[in-house]
Amino acid sequence: MRKAEPFKIKMVEPINLISKEERQAALIRAGYNVFSLTADEIYIDVLTDSGTGAMSDRQWAGIMMGDESYAGSRSFFKLEKSAQDIIGYKYIIPTHQGRGAEQVFFPLMVKKGQDVIGNMHFDTTMAHIELAGGRAVNLIHDRAFDTQTPHPFKGDFDLEKLDSYITTRGVENIAVCIITITCNSAGGQPVSMENIKAVSEICKKHGIRVFIDAARYAENAYFIKQREKGYENKSIKDIVREMFSYAEGFTMSAKKDGLVNIGGLLGVRDDEELYVALRSMIVPFEGFPTYGGLAGRDLEALAIGLQEGVEEAYLEYRIGQIEYLGKRLMEGGVPIQTPTGGHAVFVDAKKMLSHIPYHQFPAQVLANELYLEGGVRGVEIGSFLLGRNVETGEQLESPMELLRLTIPRRVYTDRHMDYIADALIAINQRAHTLKGLEIVYEPKVLRHFTAKLKPVE
Ligand SMILES: *Cc1c(COP(=O)(O)O)cnc(C)c1O
Repeated sequence: MRKAEPFKIKMVEPINLISKEERQAALIRAGYNVFSLTADEIYIDVLTDSGTGAMSDRQWAGIMMGDESYAGSRSFFKLEKSAQDIIGYKYIIPTHQGRGAEQVFFPLMVKKGQDVIGNMHFDTTMAHIELAGGRAVNLIHDRAFDTQTPHPFKGDFDLEKLDSYITTRGVENIAVCIITITCNSAGGQPVSMENIKAVSEICKKHGIRVFIDAARYAENAYFIKQREKGYENKSIKDIVREMFSYAEGFTMSAKKDGLVNIGGLLGVRDDEELYVALRSMIVPFEGFPTYGGLAGRDLEALAIGLQEGVEEAYLEYRIGQIEYLGKRLMEGGVPIQTPTGGHAVFVDAKKMLSHIPYHQFPAQVLANELYLEGGVRGVEIGSFLLGRNVETGEQLESPMELLRLTIPRRVYTDRHMDYIADALIAINQRAHTLKGLEIVYEPKVLRHFTAKLKPVE
């Protein structure tokens, strides 16, 4: 039997569903782009799982114990000890968030013109690789793009592709290899231990250094325990340590599995020279290495959050809740990516709204309709996000048109999941009546956030 949420609620934050007329007016004002809605206009927000989680009573107690010393903060040593205990690495440096770690790491590792290979790099990771003069190359297995065929580890590298890419491109043209766990850009899909180990061996053979993009490392470990032979009786901490043993360092956004609203980490297994180089670059970008852009109280909350994030009962609830929402949607006939990943459910809008062509943004239509129906905010991951060909200005066609429902940690109950599912199932009944969208305003870069649209006549 599936267990209930492994927590009682001690403090509540009221949420309010404004009327349908108010939602209609808000959406028109927002230019049919849910990014421009305000928090007060939203009932349930599943835009992102980044920094949106709820802290525990222990973390809030820790906030009061935060030591704000500029150098040598007590809270830093607590954080260092906590991270060393979980990851098994010697050197730990805090940063203000994941991209703070990336902006220090990549310029040190990448020479102009070199590639950074990985399963599939996250947006900010790719941006920092390119800012450092490098090129981001994705070597994920093709099955990641097939939404309808289940596979337990859709975040895996294609090992043959990896080996032959390194040989053809030449070792001197490859800076480092980054394993992203779970693979965010592939829908929060996990990477198996077997794959992590094999990637590490292939890279070692060629003399390429391996690092981990660790935002959802605990969710990845839980999937390994659930799905990979030989790990069913291992503890999450043991699995985490083994995963990290195949790499020599990591960057981490602590806003996900770190269970804090802001924070990040850089870690180095044992290479003192690399640690010293990173530490000296941290000072101009993030601050003194014992606070790294965070308040002492944030360090304290993260020290505790890291430990809570690897608790088995928590992970069972977390992954189970995503699975539950996915199951409700499938039972209601709503097409989704299978199996569900660690942090989100992806609704296949191309299938659901097959009468709306890619250049009328079916997943954006669905995002808007979900807001109108129930005050729920999801996010489009499709052609609207992808944008235009920079030379011709032509709208590009994304291979997938997805509505992402990204679930914050420890914030919503299964009742909220039911509500989201019911709203989408109701929309599915009248899906054929929905109309496409056209753009009326778009900025030159990153239009996803600020573009305005209107329904086509
Ligand atoms: C969120 C994320 C980042 C960036 O971290 P921020 O804390 O948002 O700066 C990097 N990589 C992955 C895989 C992420 O999910």
